[in-house]
Parts: sequence; structure tokens; C-alpha cells
Amino acid sequence: MFIGHFGVGFAAKRVIPKTSLGTLILASQFVDLLWPFFLIFGIEVVAIDPGNTAFTPLDFIYYPFSHSLLGVLIWALIFGAVYYLIRKDLKSSFILGILVLSHWILDFITHRPDLPLFLGGDSPFVGLGLWNSIIATVIIESLIFIVGVYFYISVTKAKNKIGNYSLWSFIVFLIIIYLLNLFGPPPNSVDAIGYVGLSQWLLIGWAYWIDRNRSTVDKG
Ligand SMILES: [Zn+2]
Repeated sequence: MFIGHFGVGFAAKRVIPKTSLGTLILASQFVDLLWPFFLIFGIEVVAIDPGNTAFTPLDFIYYPFSHSLLGVLIWALIFGAVYYLIRKDLKSSFILGILVLSHWILDFITHRPDLPLFLGGDSPFVGLGLWNSIIATVIIESLIFIVGVYFYISVTKAKNKIGNYSLWSFIVFLIIIYLLNLFGPPPNSVDAIGYVGLSQWLLIGWAYWIDRNRSTVDKG
């Protein structure tokens, strides 16, 4: 899942409006932002296998540190705790932890049973396999994304022109990446997956930039 995770980050603005969109998406997409580091250092393993599911050409062979349930719970705790140490805001820290965990829940719905529960090699693997249907994946993921963007727009307004252009160009950019993933050729090497994955960190910077140019609407 890709834009669905961004949709959840957008939506959370309604719950904790003082937290930047950059932090919200950093949380909801956190384990996919860590994953390329684990790949590049050879700690986790992926293979290119067109047809692995209808939706993705990737075979997630080994990724317990970024994507096991236990691993994601630990990242959620760390994320929430670090935010609390910096901001001393218990509610936001808790919601950010939930956002980190939301990534696993959405991946659990989409992946075939390749998600480990624990770190060890004897862990069971789970996944409901939404990715077996391209149409169902696109419908559900798009709905999450649209609702999330709608929530974000409903509680923020642009302070200036950048506040609008930065947001809409971000949305269009994410949709283009999504379509390229869907209709484009599979990646040509595992190294490319790692480096393209790393470039996602730029999207986090982009989201901070959007949020700085928008203000929160007081809903009373
Ligand atoms: Zn993921």
C-alpha cells in the first residue's frame, strides 16, 4: 500500500491539528521509510517477482525489523516516546504511535501472508491479500486517500499561494507515482528499490513545507 498510508497521515490532522503534516506522514509511513535502509545494508531481503500478487511485482522475502507486528509495535513506542520527549504532548504522542501502527494494519489488509508477527524465523506469516485484486486495491486505497485529503483540507487553509500550490502539487505527484507503480514496468534491480525508497524522505520534507504554509482552521 502506498497512497493509503499518506491518506491516514492526512486524516490525522483532524485529530491532532497542531502537529505538522510532515510529522503525521512521517509516522504513518515510518516503517516504509526505514525499510530501504534495511535493504541497502542487506539486513532485509526483497526480490523482484512479477505476478507475486496481481498488484505488486515484489516478493517480500525477509523484513521482520521493519514489518513484523512486534517490530512495528516497537517502532510505534519509540516514535511516540521521542515525540513526547521533544513536545511533552501526551495525546499527540499517543496518536503518532497509533499512526505508526496503522501502517502494519493497512499492510496486513493488503499483503499476501508474508508479514511476520515476530522477529524470529519461526514466526507465523499473515496478510489478507487485498493485492490479489488490482481493482479492489485501487478502490480502497483511493478512498482512504481522498477521505484523508478531505479531512486535511477541512481543518487547514492556505496562508499564501504556496500553501495551495505545494499541497495540490504533492497530491498530484503522489497519484502519478501510484499510477507509474501500477502501469509501469517492474523495478530493474533490488538496489533501485532501495534507492527509490530512500527518496521518499523528500516527500516528508515536502509535507513539512506544505504545513508551514497553511494554518489550522478553528472548528470551534
Ligand atoms: Zn509497508
